[in-house]
Amino acid sequence: MTAPQPRPNVAEIPPYVAGKPPVPRPGLTSYKLSSNENPYPPLPGVVEAAMTAVERVNRYPDMGNTELYDALAARLRVPTDHLALATGSVALIYQLVQAFCDPGDEVVFAWRSFEAYPIAVAAAAATAVKVPVLADGRHDLDAMADAVTERTRVVLVCTPNNPTGPAVTQAELDAFLARIPPQVLVVVDEAYVEFVRMDDPVDGLVTHARHENAVLTRTFSKAYGLAGLRVGYAVAPPSVAGALRAVSLPFGVSSVAQAAAVASLEREPALLERVAALVAERDRVVAGLADAGCPVPEPQGNFVWFELGERTLEFAAAADEVGIVVRPFAGEGARVSIGETEANDRLIELARRWR
Ligand SMILES: *Cc1c(COP(=O)(O)O)cnc(C)c1O
Repeated sequence: MTAPQPRPNVAEIPPYVAGKPPVPRPGLTSYKLSSNENPYPPLPGVVEAAMTAVERVNRYPDMGNTELYDALAARLRVPTDHLALATGSVALIYQLVQAFCDPGDEVVFAWRSFEAYPIAVAAAAATAVKVPVLADGRHDLDAMADAVTERTRVVLVCTPNNPTGPAVTQAELDAFLARIPPQVLVVVDEAYVEFVRMDDPVDGLVTHARHENAVLTRTFSKAYGLAGLRVGYAVAPPSVAGALRAVSLPFGVSSVAQAAAVASLEREPALLERVAALVAERDRVVAGLADAGCPVPEPQGNFVWFELGERTLEFAAAADEVGIVVRPFAGEGARVSIGETEANDRLIELARRWR
């Protein structure tokens, strides 16, 4: 008897390695710096809005996500038919690949980059084309453009790049887009856009307005501190946004997530204050690490990258010892989120002792 078999590509899906929770240590507060989460709780008033929505969870959510679409459209000044909501921007990546790739079609992205990319590509039986990042952790956009073939349907640009940290400039993105054929979708993953502080930063909205094949994805998981509620969005030409909505799970974004996201958008000043505090901490960490003799690639997100090669797991174990949990990529390096001041202090201290 033959048991039912999933499609062969399912066996090829790499596992998603989630950031570990902290190991409890007696007498020592442990900090989780392994998932680029926000160390702050949701913005003031957001928990209350979510609680009000909880009282009505016997009902399905508004399937049209009306309030959240309207709030985003107003905030971003784009028509609602240019938007697609999903359960986190990771879901949007899956949906983009699913909606635009036949089996064997190619998706080009930098590597190392966000670990969900190869998973989403394999899940759709598409083919991942990984283009190594440069020595300083930046995207090699020339090599990525060179990697585009007749089979390429989607190119993913992760800026700032998770896990290495640097972001691309608008000039670099414009030059790249000029080289990409119009039938290839260029996805700009802006999960950390709020944290970017550089000259000539990418303006995803302007890019979207100028190119019929550009999509940007954003999330409430990082700067907004709603990782546990799962909500993200894409801004795309209406035909692309429509395709994303068409393949989305009905009722995917919960009523609680919708309410929390709407309330979060109403609290822009509080958001900016927190982001500024995290950016200030990031600057302090970068300076501390440089002073400790451990320079890192320019971080434009809420995390730093240590290229450690074979010593990566040793570093992660040493971090565990001092009560900070990092995200190791064995044989390559470790990503460490900017967290509570005390946690950041411990990281700098660890770097000082690291030889
Ligand atoms: C965290 C992250 C996301 C999205 O996370 P969601 O919680 O699914 O919204 C997307 N892209 C990158 C590069 C990320 O690091």
